[in-house]
Amino acid sequence: MDEKNEVRLKPQILCMFSGGLDSVGMLWQLLTAEKYAGFEIYLHHMHLLNREERAEAEGEAVEVLYREFRKATGRDFKVTENVVEYRFMERGFIYDMDLAAFMSGNICRVNPRITKVAMGRTATDLAAVSSDFQARMDRAQRIFENVLSLEKRDLPERIFPVKAFTKAEIFAMLPETLREAAWSCRMPVYFDDKSPEPCGKCHTCDDLWAMREELEARQKDGVSGDL
Ligand SMILES: [Zn+2]
Repeated sequence: MDEKNEVRLKPQILCMFSGGLDSVGMLWQLLTAEKYAGFEIYLHHMHLLNREERAEAEGEAVEVLYREFRKATGRDFKVTENVVEYRFMERGFIYDMDLAAFMSGNICRVNPRITKVAMGRTATDLAAVSSDFQARMDRAQRIFENVLSLEKRDLPERIFPVKAFTKAEIFAMLPETLREAAWSCRMPVYFDDKSPEPCGKCHTCDDLWAMREELEARQKDGVSGDL
């Protein structure tokens, strides 16, 4: 591509997209909120092959989500993916946010069109924040900055499109097709020849169940679920 075309293209917002509810809410904001209309949205999904075995379930969910998001918003977006395999780690694991920081830093390093990186932090996360969690977030930010430390240009800005929303508010704001396609279970159950199913027992399955019941109760009372 020549330089002139490069200048005419829209700047990009990079969104590390796991397919979980928070990232689905973040993508909904990026594709529908007026303030992001001047940007091309760029999703990157990482297939994290570890002993939790969530990659296959998430991989199926993101395929459905790409399609449903295009249908629901009428907008297109760029998608790339990569695989990281570390099943050999029988104890402990690599934090998702560290891998996301390393990969997003490298994607920004080779792509000068990215001027912002969107993070899926919600009001629920921020309220529940422990000093441990804050320390891990700071470490991930240092990984991101270190990867970009030799670049001559300014660091892409971090933005938080869903930080004003609780998880329940995100659940309620999404069209049903999108909220039901999000994958949040920590321990998917695999059956032969069938798509993976949520376990129904882990804390994210519990949270999801509670949010669904609350929303249905409000809709039954005639209160709109729309925020
Ligand atoms: Zn579960």
